[in-house]
Amino acid sequence: MHTSSRPKAIVIGAGILGLAYAKTLSQRGYSVDVFERSEKATGSSIRNFGMVWPIGQPKGKLLDRAMKSRQIWIDVCKAANIWHKQTGSLQLLSNELEFEMGREFLERESPHREQLQLLNKQETKALFPYAHSQNNHGAIYSGTEIIVESREAIRLLPQYLKATHGINFHFNSPVIDIGTSFIVTAKKQRYEADIIVLCSGYETQLLYPGVFESAPVTISQLNMLRTARISQTIPALCAGLSFLHYGSYDKLPSTAIYKKWASENYPKQVYHGIHLLVSQNYNNQLTLGDSHDYGMHHEPFQQDDVDQLILDYMNDVMEIPQVQMAQRWTGQYLKMQNGQSEWFEEIEPGVFLANGPGGAGMTLGFGMAEDTLGQLLD
Ligand SMILES: Cc1cc2nc3c(=O)[nH]c(=O)nc-3n(C[C@H](O)[C@H](O)[C@H](O)COP(=O)(O)OP(=O)(O)OC[C@H]3O[C@@H](n4cnc5c(N)ncnc54)[C@H](O)[C@@H]3O)c2cc1C
Repeated sequence: MHTSSRPKAIVIGAGILGLAYAKTLSQRGYSVDVFERSEKATGSSIRNFGMVWPIGQPKGKLLDRAMKSRQIWIDVCKAANIWHKQTGSLQLLSNELEFEMGREFLERESPHREQLQLLNKQETKALFPYAHSQNNHGAIYSGTEIIVESREAIRLLPQYLKATHGINFHFNSPVIDIGTSFIVTAKKQRYEADIIVLCSGYETQLLYPGVFESAPVTISQLNMLRTARISQTIPALCAGLSFLHYGSYDKLPSTAIYKKWASENYPKQVYHGIHLLVSQNYNNQLTLGDSHDYGMHHEPFQQDDVDQLILDYMNDVMEIPQVQMAQRWTGQYLKMQNGQSEWFEEIEPGVFLANGPGGAGMTLGFGMAEDTLGQLLD
């Protein structure tokens, strides 16, 4: 028996998807309780670059979703006084072929995107003085990207959502059982709700393991690094190998030639799924990465040689004075293998699974919650 006249919702997981679904359900009139296993979120959402990165999303549904999420990030960060920076982004282009890929991208994408420019060498150097002195061939500038400090933003958002939306957060509360209209926590407490949304990220072994086992998914494990504070200001960056990693760049006229070039010139980086992303936080530390290793089981031992390959590639595209590393970690996310951009499914009556934005959950999460719940509840 519910005491409130409002319908009740339970969300499991306080990563970006859990927060986004809780916010949207609350805005749609639900009284919402969020259950998070740990004392604070420790999953993918606090291990990432904090890049809200529309430039990586293909035009259409996903670019629209990314732009919607971007606006929500700006609004909540301003309202909750959470640090964020509307940096835009630079994709460094290090040879003629990459510049040609950039030109093709601009030709195809300019009508669909705001603030997109192809910069020549001099313009790139003016925006980013540390572009490599020999390898700088130009850059793609995009004005739509934002950086948040995810380990802070994700952990401050619950306070804001509680204060402004009345959402209740139950930390240190692993959920060990779910069924239609109820959940049970590890402390054997039972809670009831009209709708339950499971946002447990890459954790596939506890709740509904059978559903995960038979799904077209894999888990991607990434190596990440963070520098000590540096004196330089660095824009949010990626580089040529990112052409191989984002859907927005698919099927450019030179893509096949570029893939061949990359596998001949950067065979180890291509093998480990390495490209370069750089974001700078308000402490002037750089978050650097990343690599991609796929499979349902991952060893917990971070490989130094893979980190070194990331740094070797970084040194080919930029020249900043020797930086000191402060942290290294791995992160995981669940990746769809059937070409779908998300996994939102009613797995038993009233119980919905929300997962699958892969390496773009910070970019797509808020919009994914609005779009999928909109289709369900409208
Ligand atoms: C290294 C790395 C870098 C990335 N960089 C970016 C980026 O810069 N930009 C971008 O857009 N995307 C990025 N991504 C992707 C993005 O971080 C993920 O898509 C997103 O964080 C997934 O969010 P989530 O809420 O599904 O999962 P998570 O953040 O993992 O949250 C799941 C939560 O559920 C909790 N949980 C699990 N099981 C239970 C249970 N039984 N009971 C209670 N709680 C439970 C966990 O403790 C966890 O807090 C990156 C990912 C990684 C790993």
